[in-house]
Amino acid sequence: MKEILVLAEHRMGELRDVTLEMLSKGRELAQALDAQLVAGLLGRDVAVFSETLKKWAHQVLVVDDSKLENFNADAYQKVLGDIIKKRQPGLTMIGHTSFGVDLAPPLATQLGIPLITDCVDIQLKDGAPLATRQVYGGKLISEVSFVGTPCMVTLRQGAFPVEESDLKGKIAAVDSPLTEEITCRKFLQYVEAVVGDVDITQADIIVSVGRGIREEKNMPIVEGLAEAMGGVLACSRPITDSGWLSSDRQVGQSGRTVKPKVYVAVGISGAFQHITGMSGAETIVAINRDPNAPIFSVAHYGIVGDLFQVVPALTEKIAEAKEN
Ligand SMILES: Cc1cc2nc3c(=O)[nH]c(=O)nc-3n(C[C@H](O)[C@H](O)[C@H](O)COP(=O)(O)OP(=O)(O)OC[C@H]3O[C@@H](n4cnc5c(N)ncnc54)[C@H](O)[C@@H]3O)c2cc1C
Repeated sequence: MKEILVLAEHRMGELRDVTLEMLSKGRELAQALDAQLVAGLLGRDVAVFSETLKKWAHQVLVVDDSKLENFNADAYQKVLGDIIKKRQPGLTMIGHTSFGVDLAPPLATQLGIPLITDCVDIQLKDGAPLATRQVYGGKLISEVSFVGTPCMVTLRQGAFPVEESDLKGKIAAVDSPLTEEITCRKFLQYVEAVVGDVDITQADIIVSVGRGIREEKNMPIVEGLAEAMGGVLACSRPITDSGWLSSDRQVGQSGRTVKPKVYVAVGISGAFQHITGMSGAETIVAINRDPNAPIFSVAHYGIVGDLFQVVPALTEKIAEAKEN
């Protein structure tokens, strides 16, 4: 494999975290394969991003076109499809984001290349990419290989850390193949999700509660811990589905992505749809009575025990420590 291509994702003037995460992983693979790592940057007036990207890639291909000002999967498919056809990268990496899930399947179909979606890891086996996916809500891990190259993956956000890089990549302008506006669908506007009374995405300390709490009347137990820690209360999806907390408190794939300093998961099993939204926390503490709960695989500190005993005891200790 001579080349690995990573699609840079940006939105509303900001490079999305998944881009540098993929480039960090891509660099590791490229080094092992002695291949070139190439970042594909599509957009309008995106020079500022190419300056960042050149530190993470051997080459940055920039397609600057007013028709690419906002993400449109059809426009991206045409441009990226042309690039892939010309350069034949052995592996193309795209974020498993709302952009990526819109773009990658039709693009792979158009090119007739294999695609593995929603990967949480990608390694090399005998010089060929081997993708890792979670199945059955994260209870099982499956390893999937490609039938030959070129191939394509979509990679889950937060799956890889961003590793510092000081490559000095070349920036190359690529002519846009878009001759006319894409008319079958148009970008209208970005609509910000409504932020409720508390914006959990900005919180430094989060106590998050899951189905282990059993009943709404038990919620004050975790509220007490959040208060003692000076944090805010968040939750897994069953709690919002039950109406015990509003949806702006939900962490995960269909909720918010949070990156607090401390995240305490109380009675949360750790389904991947939840972990996706909190694995970027600096310190994760999990309280669960099941020692095999998947949440312990991402936790830095784990307490195996009954939350109805552990949480009040912890709250009391914190209150005592604050008094002293
Ligand atoms: C498309 C889609 C999107 C989704 N989006 C999200 C999302 O954004 N966020 C999200 O959270 N989920 C989401 N889900 C749901 C997800 O798959 C899980 O069902 C959910 O995260 C489980 O929530 P939970 O961990 O609170 O409950 P459970 O999986 O039921 O886990 C409860 C845990 O509590 C523990 N427990 C029980 N009693 C006690 C006790 N007394 N003391 C200590 N521990 C105890 C149990 O051991 C268990 O591990 C989504 C699902 C789908 C299909």
